[in-house]
Amino acid sequence: MQELEARIQAEGRVLGDDILKVDSFLNHQIDPKLMQAMGNEFARIFADQGVNKILTVESSGIAPAVMAGLALDVPVVFARKSKSRVLADDAYTADVYSYTKQTTNQIRIDKHFLSAADRVLLIDDFLANGQALLGLMSLANQADADIIGAGIVIEKSFQPGRQAALDAGLTQIASLARIADFKDGQVVFVDEDN
Ligand code: 5GP
Repeated sequence: MQELEARIQAEGRVLGDDILKVDSFLNHQIDPKLMQAMGNEFARIFADQGVNKILTVESSGIAPAVMAGLALDVPVVFARKSKSRVLADDAYTADVYSYTKQTTNQIRIDKHFLSAADRVLLIDDFLANGQALLGLMSLANQADADIIGAGIVIEKSFQPGRQAALDAGLTQIASLARIADFKDGQVVFVDEDN
């Protein structure tokens, strides 16, 4: 998605070897118009596949997921990362190791919000090593829901997440920006024509 790539080039900062900081429009400050354009793009890609629910994980997946939910006219459920006193004990859970934070979080969803009747689109802000996506797949599988595919805002294609998710049975991964590499602190995108 051209508009997203332009924003990444203009505002993204590369930290170390493999982290992209996009706090000015995605991970801290949020640009609602850009989120809406991304939600519309996810809706276009996954139209006519009978998606009836979107599943994401707090917190940075929520904004693009809500916009996709608005465009597809379906509800959005986000997995929580901490055990809340208001979240029922009756929950699907999965352990997710966060590479950026170097901690393991248990993500959870109240069983009321996911069932075998659901055709789920997974959404997240980044795809890196795939742990978050595998965790979301696990929650959907525990509920016997059908997983239609995943919509990712920024995929770091030099990391193994896409392959890990495909190996785990995901059939469709649509990433709005795919990063091939960080070269001298600059972002190099995957050339989709090749
Ligand atoms: P994975 O589980 O695929 O390794 O990483 C996905 C999660 O880690 C995303 O939900 C995102 O929050 C975080 N993440 C991974 N790589 C990056 C990155 O380069 N920049 C930022 N801001 N977050 C990242």
